[in-house]
Amino acid sequence: MNETQSKPVIITGFACRLEAIRGEAISLILGVVAEHKIVGTFYKNLGIHYDHGDEPEEYSFSPIVVTHNTDFCSYGGYEAATVYELFTDERGRLLCTLNGEAGEDFDEPIEHIQTEGLLCIVEWLVEYGFIADDPWRCEACGSLAVQANVWIDSNTKEVMQGAHNRDEHHCADCDANTCQIRESELLRNMDKWWRTLEGAVKEDITGIRFEDFRTGDSDNELQEADIRFSEACRLWWEQRSTEEKISLWKDNQ
Ligand SMILES: [Zn+2]
Repeated sequence: MNETQSKPVIITGFACRLEAIRGEAISLILGVVAEHKIVGTFYKNLGIHYDHGDEPEEYSFSPIVVTHNTDFCSYGGYEAATVYELFTDERGRLLCTLNGEAGEDFDEPIEHIQTEGLLCIVEWLVEYGFIADDPWRCEACGSLAVQANVWIDSNTKEVMQGAHNRDEHHCADCDANTCQIRESELLRNMDKWWRTLEGAVKEDITGIRFEDFRTGDSDNELQEADIRFSEACRLWWEQRSTEEKISLWKDNQ
């Protein structure tokens, strides 16, 4: 029996998915560090290493992670610590400076951080605006299930060459190569689509009736009714969630 046969298939499947999650989290963190070089997550230092002695300004909360290093004398080599800084060394390795229970600083490669800790760092980066919460979506159907064909550095996982044309992008929901745009841009496109939609279609979608706003047949009264009807439809649209808007846009193209 060889190595692969001895491992249950279900465990191999879990490990693959976990590896994908870890890879995605590390590449998000790398993207932020590539931009700022050094990112303080305890003190508000950016681009330069902190110095405890300078008494720099602190964030109100910092990511706390569990790191695993067999060289540690802790139980099983696990250690909980606060992340103070994220940076890359001269070899391009992504490291984090941790501060543990004993109060001293130590640097650990990002690969040693347990998965929950990686997600905790990503959440922190989103919370403090280092990662824009503006995901890529399929331009054709609005789906978030989109992939890109890129070249990465095998060691650092840094993206060396991104995807540029449609052939290098794929949407799992369309099951086709489609273009991708940021969610904010898709929302702007859909807002434009909504504004230019015919009144009758808006009535069908919203259930709001133009007749309910009409007080008479004069040009003035009709114009007044049109303004109030449009305003009611605009408010209705603004109250929809992003997913609801995408679903309406898809169904009424
Ligand atoms: Zn799609």
